[in-house]
Amino acid sequence: MNDCLFCKIVRREIPATLVYEDEQIAAFNDVKPQAPTHVLIVPKRHIDSLNKLSIEEDSLIGALVRRASAIAAERGLSEGGYRTVFNTNRDAGQTVFHIHLHLLGGRAMGWPPG
Ligand code: 5GP
Ligand code: ZN
Repeated sequence: MNDCLFCKIVRREIPATLVYEDEQIAAFNDVKPQAPTHVLIVPKRHIDSLNKLSIEEDSLIGALVRRASAIAAERGLSEGGYRTVFNTNRDAGQTVFHIHLHLLGGRAMGWPPG
């Protein structure tokens, strides 16, 4: 057990709108959406950030990315496009230290990001 916000969501100790779940991963709506679709896809197992990844997590990270693509497809976003983001540490603005893949879509986005 730990105090991590996303571990608590995975354990259903904090409510969230779950959009997908399997043995390894969960996906839920961001509480402060930045686009019409803003879903966070997380491993159920706690990992702080991409800085902590090892080769054993390669398939887990692949599953997160493929799930983002599948959710985008379900919502008709594949052709128009969508953005997937992992923020890591201070300069990227990471605020929750449990790896999460942001899936953002449903509006046009600028580049470079702020
Ligand atoms: P980060 O800045 O670490 O990449 O992203 C963390 C994300 O988690 C932010 O987009 C933020 O809105 C979202 N978030 C923070 N607290 C909660 C919460 O309690 N529930 C949900 N569903 N999302 C949260
Ligand atoms: Zn966690």
